[in-house]
Amino acid sequence: MAKILNIGFINDSVHGIPINTSVQCNGSNFKSSPSRNAAYVVMHYTGNEKDQAKANAQYFTGANRNASAHFFVDDKEIYQSVALHNIAWHCGAQTYYHGDCRNTNSIGIEMCCTAGNYKISDETEKNAAYLCAYICKQLGITAGTVDTCVLRHYDVTHKNCPAQMVNNPQEWKAFKELVKTILKNGAF
Ligand SMILES: [Zn+2]
Repeated sequence: MAKILNIGFINDSVHGIPINTSVQCNGSNFKSSPSRNAAYVVMHYTGNEKDQAKANAQYFTGANRNASAHFFVDDKEIYQSVALHNIAWHCGAQTYYHGDCRNTNSIGIEMCCTAGNYKISDETEKNAAYLCAYICKQLGITAGTVDTCVLRHYDVTHKNCPAQMVNNPQEWKAFKELVKTILKNGAF
C-alpha cells in the first residue's frame, strides 16, 4: 500500500518529544519532490561510537554529504532533517535485496548510538518506535502491515544496519511488536 505524501515538516510531538525542525538538511543531500508515493519506513543506526540527534542534523546542513535521512532520534530529542515529500538518500545501493523499497518510496529514520560503543540505547529505540508508528499512520501502514512495510536498512541492501537489530533478530522483532502496539493503542 502506498500513499501520496505531500506533508513536509511535522509540527507535532511524539512520545512527549516535540519534533525539532530547526536544523534542516542541505539541499544538495536529497532530491526535491513536491509529492510522492511512499509505502515503507526504513530503520537505520548512525553507526558512530556515540552520538546524538542534533549533531547529526547539524552535520547534514553541510553540502555534498552524499547521504541523508528524514529523522534522527536519540534518548531525548527528535530532529527532522528532510521534508517527508522529499527523497532522502538513506537506502540506495548497486544491488537491492528487496523487490520494491527504494529511497523514492520510503522514509528513513536514523537511531543514534546513544548507548556508546556503536549501540542504540533502549530509550532511543523506544522513541524511534513511537516515531516509526507515527509515520506508519501517515503512510496508512497498520499493525497488520508493519511486518512488510517497516524494514531495516539491511532488508533493502544487506548493509549491516542497524547492526544490533541485524545481529539479534529478536531485538528487531521486539521493535516491530512495539510499533504494532503503539499503532493499535493509537497513542503516539
Ligand atoms: Zn542504514
